[in-house]
Amino acid sequence: MTVERAEIAIIGGGPAGAAAAVRLAHAGRDVLLIERSRTTMHKLCGEFVSCEALAALDGLGIKLPTAGVVPLAAIRLTAGNIVAEARLPFPTAGLSRRLLDMLLLREAVRAGVRIRRGVAVRKVEAGKGSAAIHLADGTTFDAAEAILATGKHDIAPRARETRWPGRRSMLGLKMHLRLSPEAASRLGPAVELHLFPGGCAGLQPVGNGVVNLCITLDRNEFARAGHDFRSFLDHIGNGNAAFRAAINDASLLWPRPLAIARVPYGHLRGPQELPDHLWPVGDQAAVTASFTGDGIALALAGGIAAAEELLAGGSSASYLRAFRCRAKRQMRCAMALQRLIDYPSLHHPLVALARRQPWMIRKAASLTRLPRAAGSDSATERWRKPEAAEARPEPGGT
Ligand SMILES: Cc1cc2nc3c(=O)[nH]c(=O)nc-3n(C[C@H](O)[C@H](O)[C@H](O)COP(=O)(O)OP(=O)(O)OC[C@H]3O[C@@H](n4cnc5c(N)ncnc54)[C@H](O)[C@@H]3O)c2cc1C
Repeated sequence: MTVERAEIAIIGGGPAGAAAAVRLAHAGRDVLLIERSRTTMHKLCGEFVSCEALAALDGLGIKLPTAGVVPLAAIRLTAGNIVAEARLPFPTAGLSRRLLDMLLLREAVRAGVRIRRGVAVRKVEAGKGSAAIHLADGTTFDAAEAILATGKHDIAPRARETRWPGRRSMLGLKMHLRLSPEAASRLGPAVELHLFPGGCAGLQPVGNGVVNLCITLDRNEFARAGHDFRSFLDHIGNGNAAFRAAINDASLLWPRPLAIARVPYGHLRGPQELPDHLWPVGDQAAVTASFTGDGIALALAGGIAAAEELLAGGSSASYLRAFRCRAKRQMRCAMALQRLIDYPSLHHPLVALARRQPWMIRKAASLTRLPRAAGSDSATERWRKPEAAEARPEPGGT
């Protein structure tokens, strides 16, 4: 068995792990990041990058390119044959997770992070004063601190728990689409949440004429459609006119959707759950409701907070205590709203009410944001450009 050494090891190169790596490397620390995938791939996600995420990226020195990034201006909520619309009360963007993860890892390399790709970590053992990280290729790394950023994949000594066992039957599906010219023009730079019995389908442009469709649904609904994605889209469209109009004549850009099951929604890691020297970040620390589009923000904020606590000589327990306090309001509001939209009988009255009172959509969107770190407001101001606020079709969005 080969044993190598790293001062700080980070397991997982998604937003949480990459953000921690960048922050630590900028402070001159020796960081090794282990990412199981050989190349950056598409990941299951709504690809809605919220204002707090934009501010965090800016703080890490990551400049988003113009191509492949769509500033979003409006939010639409639909059910049955009604649509409610509101302007988004904060700057946000649509961009593919592949691009986002690539930009973060590129900055990590530039900052001096050593990256080991194409090999998975099988096990982490945290002992007195260090952690042993066992890789699938037989290598073991001995690190003073280990940051656990494996997203949906549990390798920690204690798996994540959900406060919402019913949600265990939920399935997430994602597909990139090219809409018809009429549908692309109707969508414009907006995010749409289409409610249907058993789930919610999010639709938004992510640049280069591509639209991301991300659906959370009860897996029994998908089983009833014979696990056929196209038939399932038609099934949603049969009960939701706006969704039907959006996907009419749309081309699916992948042979099959990405899928994920058993997401532990509502999980918020307690400070005493894991041994010292093991720092859970991102989905390993907190899993919010998908419709909020705030998971990336939580992941970036957690990665940065853990790195800062580590640099200040603190412990993983003190980082988690502070992070829980910061994330608690977001998580409570998100899960309460999710419970409401779990009742199909409420869809129509809720959207009808939001149509009459669009401020309610803005309020719900604001309540499901992670409180921003101090001094981050100016970083997102550039997303408030006047042209971004106009509901115009995305250029080349067909
Ligand atoms: C249906 C759905 C829709 C969503 N939509 C949005 C949205 O629109 N906006 C938003 O902000 N959030 C959204 N989220 C949440 C968001 O995707 C996650 O919160 C975010 O990706 C968490 O980042 P992370 O870095 O913790 O994990 P990930 O992004 O999952 O990254 C984890 C990384 O670790 C690697 N890894 C895993 N296991 C190992 C191992 N054993 N060894 C080495 N590497 C490993 C993986 O390959 C991966 O690269 C959504 C989530 C779901 C389920």
